[in-house]
Amino acid sequence: MTQCDEVMMNDTLIKELADVAKDAALLQGVLMRIQETPNSSELVTYAPFTLFPTPVPKAVFLQALAVQTHYNTLVDKISQDTDFLEEALSSTIAVDDFTARLFKLHQQILKEGRSQSIVLGLNRSDYMLDQRDDGSSSLKQIEINTFAASFGGLSSRTPDVHRHVLKVAGRLEESQNILDNNPAAGLARAVAKAWELYGSERAVVMFLVEESQRNIFDQRYIESELWKRYCGRGAVLEETSQQLYDGQEVAVVYFRNGYMPQNYISEQTWDARLLMERSLAVKCPDISTHLAGTKKVQQVLTRPGVLEKFFPDQPQVVEQIRATFAGLYTLDMGPEGDKTVTMALEEPDRYVLKPQREGGGNNIYGSEICQVLQGVKGSTERMAYILMDKIHPAPVQNYLLRRDAPLQLNNCLSELGVFGTYVRQGKDMVMNECVGHLLRTKSSEHSDGGVAAGVAVLDNPLLI
Ligand code: ADP
Ligand code: MG
Ligand code: MG
Repeated sequence: MTQCDEVMMNDTLIKELADVAKDAALLQGVLMRIQETPNSSELVTYAPFTLFPTPVPKAVFLQALAVQTHYNTLVDKISQDTDFLEEALSSTIAVDDFTARLFKLHQQILKEGRSQSIVLGLNRSDYMLDQRDDGSSSLKQIEINTFAASFGGLSSRTPDVHRHVLKVAGRLEESQNILDNNPAAGLARAVAKAWELYGSERAVVMFLVEESQRNIFDQRYIESELWKRYCGRGAVLEETSQQLYDGQEVAVVYFRNGYMPQNYISEQTWDARLLMERSLAVKCPDISTHLAGTKKVQQVLTRPGVLEKFFPDQPQVVEQIRATFAGLYTLDMGPEGDKTVTMALEEPDRYVLKPQREGGGNNIYGSEICQVLQGVKGSTERMAYILMDKIHPAPVQNYLLRRDAPLQLNNCLSELGVFGTYVRQGKDMVMNECVGHLLRTKSSEHSDGGVAAGVAVLDNPLLI
């Protein structure tokens, strides 16, 4: 069936199909707690998702998978390069208090000496497909998340939902083109590896979770994989935010909380982070890997010669990574930053202005770019941001299924995420894998994204 036929499907059929889809999501466990009671499982609903999977060109999809282990290596190398991090972030930390505080923690840990030589990375590199004039699309990285990259759990369950929808819609053949996906298993495998290398039977894995736990099932899938496959060899536990578990030895701390300034509600919270960083536990991520995931670092990586420094003898790796870079521009003081300001003010719709924040809803678009830049362009405050080319994926029509939202056809844009995991012990990369994908889709009316932010919904690529 073509896109056009889909649009023509009559409203009653679509409504019926949407009901089928929602039941399929509930059956498969694509779940979220409801907004009103985020910390109770008495009332749950389906996590928002698209009615139909979205066509994604196979070549671009494979390109994203193929580059993932190199991105893992890159993040890990950056995290170990103290001088690079210091230089890359020096302007940012001069004006951005949150990044400065994280950097201070990083320096303190370096001064004291790292307590643990085992490193666990669970990343998600996100891309959009920039549409070229000739109709083809090119893979452009939006960002890489080294901290609390989510939806590896739920996205392990969505393929069966879309397969079912397509079958019921009479698109049996296409239903076979939806790939299996199981990031949860891959993420758990890396956590288990780190636990094993830590080498204490008694020690536990601690999930440091958010105060508001709407998305709890996403991490429950990872936890469940750990119980299913690795326990008996140790325990897994989960603790609420801000409380450190006492009385048990912690082998691995998996942070799902702690990437926003709002997560650090008091000095004690910062003390807790320091305590964890100092502890013998394997941190996911450790403070240096956290910093490696900043948007400022992403911008600095696009400078000539920087990738070559990290991969001196691997021009093909450099090329593979660089091919995914969008244009990124500094706002540091000086002629280069001045040029960025002029460019952005002249054609704000061509760019996205980004502060050093995570979790969706923080970026600046369109005329607001001018407002913000007019305010900061003459001062060092502008160094808190970077400027990025805006990526323009081809819009695809789809229905977004979300509790309490009307069922209507939307013009949609998608973002492809690829999950990567690695475990390093001292100098040895013990594990480096690409473990699955995530497709998120939003209405093109929204500039920013994020499922947790209430804008994007879960989706699946339908390879074409
Ligand atoms: P966050 O860390 O908050 O997720 P992102 O850089 O991923 O920050 O930006 C949030 C969202 O904004 C993305 O999911 C995407 O929808 C949109 N976005 C970000 N950068 C671009 C870009 N260069 N072009 C188009 N959209 C973008
Ligand atoms: Mg993002
Ligand atoms: Mg992010």
